[in-house]
Amino acid sequence: MEGRVIKSTGSWYVVKTDSEFISARLKGKFKQEDLKLTNPIAVGDWVTLSKEENQETAIISAIHPRENYVIRKSTRKQHFSHIIASNVDQSMLVITMKKPRTSLGFIDRFLVSTESFRIPAILVVNKVDLLEGEDAEDWLLDIHEIYEPLGYQVIEISAINDKDLLDKFHPLLQGKSTLIAGHSGVGKSTLLNKLVPEASQDTKEISGFSAKGVHTTTFAELFPVKGGGDLIDTPGIKEFGILDVEDYELSHYFPEMRKYLGECKYNNCRHINEPGCVVRKKVEEGYIHPYRYQSYLNILNEEDSYR
Ligand code: GDP
Ligand code: ZN
Repeated sequence: MEGRVIKSTGSWYVVKTDSEFISARLKGKFKQEDLKLTNPIAVGDWVTLSKEENQETAIISAIHPRENYVIRKSTRKQHFSHIIASNVDQSMLVITMKKPRTSLGFIDRFLVSTESFRIPAILVVNKVDLLEGEDAEDWLLDIHEIYEPLGYQVIEISAINDKDLLDKFHPLLQGKSTLIAGHSGVGKSTLLNKLVPEASQDTKEISGFSAKGVHTTTFAELFPVKGGGDLIDTPGIKEFGILDVEDYELSHYFPEMRKYLGECKYNNCRHINEPGCVVRKKVEEGYIHPYRYQSYLNILNEEDSYR
């Protein structure tokens, strides 16, 4: 049989096939790809599996090549990667101005991460019902003005108040696997509850094994969406990793800097204070947003991060 992994608890996986949900595991040693991975199988993986004699559980015998994957942030020293999810068509970052406030730096780190995995990103501004006054207007305007010209769609919602949430999300989600992320408290669960049919939310309980005592909060989970598409929830995952890159390559993941690729005097320019730096010049001329440039410098200076 073929199926897609929709949940993982570390050693058991829930796989969705054409006809059922089945608990599956790997047998024996499993051949890893080139990455040093702490988990051989991730949510989103397409796998080949066969039923065990009991007919209730299955053994995974092969994993289909991944189109892409997202890893969790780890440190350089660890040299290991934990795959959060694979075969992701797009990502949505839920952000809020209040309760809690999402910083622009956090948004930028998320976008650099998804750029590095070549996954398009949409910003979902939640809790717009709380946005009143000039400060809020300015913040919202900044979000639109900074991110839309870079190619990131920005949508505004109120997960608790909007009556037309499904209509809003249907055209975005249909036919795609969408990774959804955000700080805790931004309203991800509220949103998910409205987009995912109740029956699917229950499947986490009815899979044929007991996950009791298993720490599952940092594992992703895939849910079908009402009207088509899948959402991959990432509970408890604070930050995503960035694919291994040299310093001078970081700007490739900033679309507004990538534009000037090859124009700086030195082709390994880090755009800090090198002579003949075109990116730096574009910042000074106002073509690159100063916040974004600051985020770029901050990420560049994160010694510890896995890049
Ligand atoms: P999560 O940690 O991202 O899953 O956040 P939750 O879905 O648990 O929501 C955190 C809190 O924010 C809850 O008290 C929700 O009721 C509240 N919340 C969610 N969406 C909205 C919204 O659109 N407006 C307001 N005012 N509160 C919201
Ligand atoms: Zn430069």
